[in-house]
Parts: sequence; C-alpha cells; structure tokens
Amino acid sequence: LQSQISKKDKEDENFAPAVSLVDMFLKAREMERSGKDIIHFDAGEPDFEPPPQVVDATISALKEGKARYTESAGVPAAKRAVSEKLNRRYGSVLAPENVLLTAGGRLALYYAFMSIPKDDMVGVATPDWPAYRDLCRFLTLKSRFFKTSLDSGWDLDLGEIENSRCKALILNYPNNPTGKVLDKKKFTQLMELAERKGMLVISDEVYSDYVFDGGKEFTSVLQFPNLNFMLVSSLSKSYAMTGFRAAYIVSDRKTISRLTNINSMVVTSMPEFVQYAMIAAMNCDDYVREKVQMIARRRDTATKALTKNLDAEYYTPDGSLYIFPRLHSQSSSPGAFDSEKFAVELLDKEYVSVTPGTSFGPLFREHIRMTLLQNDSRIEEGIERMSKIL
Ligand code: PMP
Repeated sequence: LQSQISKKDKEDENFAPAVSLVDMFLKAREMERSGKDIIHFDAGEPDFEPPPQVVDATISALKEGKARYTESAGVPAAKRAVSEKLNRRYGSVLAPENVLLTAGGRLALYYAFMSIPKDDMVGVATPDWPAYRDLCRFLTLKSRFFKTSLDSGWDLDLGEIENSRCKALILNYPNNPTGKVLDKKKFTQLMELAERKGMLVISDEVYSDYVFDGGKEFTSVLQFPNLNFMLVSSLSKSYAMTGFRAAYIVSDRKTISRLTNINSMVVTSMPEFVQYAMIAAMNCDDYVREKVQMIARRRDTATKALTKNLDAEYYTPDGSLYIFPRLHSQSSSPGAFDSEKFAVELLDKEYVSVTPGTSFGPLFREHIRMTLLQNDSRIEEGIERMSKIL
C-alpha cells in the first residue's frame, strides 16, 4: 500500500484515493488471517449480532418453506411492516405500494442513481461516502460537490445549492463519515429549497436510528409531503444484518413501480426468508435503543481518548457509527498531515486499521474515519497505539 501513495489532490469527480477504504479493510483481514490481532476501526460492520427474534424468524421461515421467488417489490406483509413503521415514526401516509425491498442499501442507491437523467447534475455534499462518487462515475452522471468543513461544524451552505444547476441532491444524515445531523431548521430550509427548484432529493437514511443524546431531532424527507424524493434505508446497521442484504427504497408509487421493473430484471426479488426476517426486525425497537445507547457511550470514550492522547480536533458526532477527527503529528507542519501514510504505518506497526480521510474526498487528507464498532477498552487501546505513530 505504501507505494500507492501520491500527493495529488484535486476536488473533481475523477479523484480516487491512493489507499482506499476497501484496501485498508482487505489488508487488515489478510493480516488477521495470518494471526495478528487487529483493532478494526475500518468497515462499518457492527461488532454485535442481529436480534435473536430475527434469527428465529429466518429459521422458522426456512422451515416453513419460505425460500421461493416472491413479488418483485417484496411480499405485501414485509412492505406493510416497513411502511407502517415509517408512518408511526414520521407521521407519513405511506402505503405498501410506496416501498420496494432491495437486496442491500447499495442496490437501492444504484436504482436511485440510475433513474437520474444523464444530463442532470447531481449535487453531493462532501465529505461523502465513496459509493456516491463511484455511482456517478459508473453511470456517467455529472456531479458537483458541496464542501463542508470541520471548522464550520460540517454545515451545508444552502446558498451554494440554491445557485447551482443541480437537479438532484444526495443527502446522508446522520452522516458517514462525520456523524453530523443537520438540524431541523436547516434541513427544513433545504427541503423547501429543493421543492422550489424542483430538485429530486435522494436521502440515504441508513443511520436514522443512530441519533444520540435525544438532542438534535433527526428529520426525514418523509416529513415533507410535497417533495420529489427517494428514501433509501437498510437493516444492515440498526439490526447488524449486513449479510442478510436487507434494505428498501421508498418513493411515490409511479417511481416504485418503475424501479420494481428494474429489480425484477436484476434479481427477480429479495430472498423470501430474508423478507420474513425484515418483518421480525421491524418489531425490535428495544434492541435498537440499547445499541444506540452503547454507540453513544463509545462515542464519549473515543472523544475523550482522542483529546487526551492525540490532541485531535473533531466534531462530536450527533449520530451514525463514525467519528472523523483531524490529526496532526509532531513532525508535520500545519495542514500537511497525510492520513494515507499514517493509516498504512499504523496498520503495519500497531495493528490498528482506520480509513484515510481521502476515501471521502480529496479535501480530507488530514482526517481519518474511525468506526465506533469496537468495545470501549479496544477504542482506548487503539487510540493509544495511534499516539505512538504520531
Ligand atoms: N449508505 C451508507 C451511508 C453506508 O455507510 C452504507 C454501508 N456502509 C450503505 C448505505 C449501504 O449499506 P448496505 O448495502 O449494507 O445496506
């Protein structure tokens, strides 16, 4: 990995990090297979198991022979479980016909991006989870990046969006990697702006359960009835169901019907037993509450250790499973810290795996993304080991 590192940063749609999130994850896994004990702050993979009710429901479904093709958008009971849960939470009036079950959030995002006309400009708030950039490139969509920074609390400049030619906007709150939740007032202004400009808002709400402190109330696109939107969500994070590939996309009936035809071509339907696992998950609120409290505690552990051991600067996450500190080393001059070099050295020498900030855009070379998916003592230990490299 050392040899991949170059220092050319440019904020354009073709930027690619020299050492990516996937590179770090694969290298850490390889070292683990050779017997090293790696502290993983890399992939967003929960370190806890799915709810027992979900596992039981999956086994029962299999025993009952529910291992068939189904309706392409999903069985009515599963779509209803999703729409009713969202309606209870947001006061929306979704019907099962507003829901398409997809084999993972990534597939849902692929369908959402696929439906953007080629000539339309897509706005992406950066730092950005790499899939959005990758999808724009893969589908040859024009993209425009709206920069946010640690120094301004990762806040969006609405004026820039207002004055742009973007016809679609991809949002992700609570945010991966920053942990930011846009406050209700700002989010509302943004939705009003999108309505005024006739923009399509693709809202990736996979972390919507992970909101801490009861402080900032999370706002969903579902709370704006006149908005042209596609909501993407997944069961991967809230229920630790990454390997189930269970997710959904919500939009108006016409859009869902169009996307269902595509889903039918691509995968026919989600596995039937996974859909029954999804129904069970929709009733696991206590499990989710407990996990959210646990991650909030880990966030506190991480922030304390980052301050004490690394003198790092960070935004205290309002939610999500991540923290995105800005680091500096004793030898680097201000602004010159290279997180790609740091991440590679940290893994090689101290067996701690983090993601360099450049995975989230060229402007974040001084940052690293850490997941909060290790227990408290390993979080402390991992940060202590970082201080040795710095
Ligand atoms: N959106 C964001 C912001 C994510 O971080 C992830 C997973 N890392 C996903 C979507 C997709 O998750 P999945 O495909 O497992 O549903």
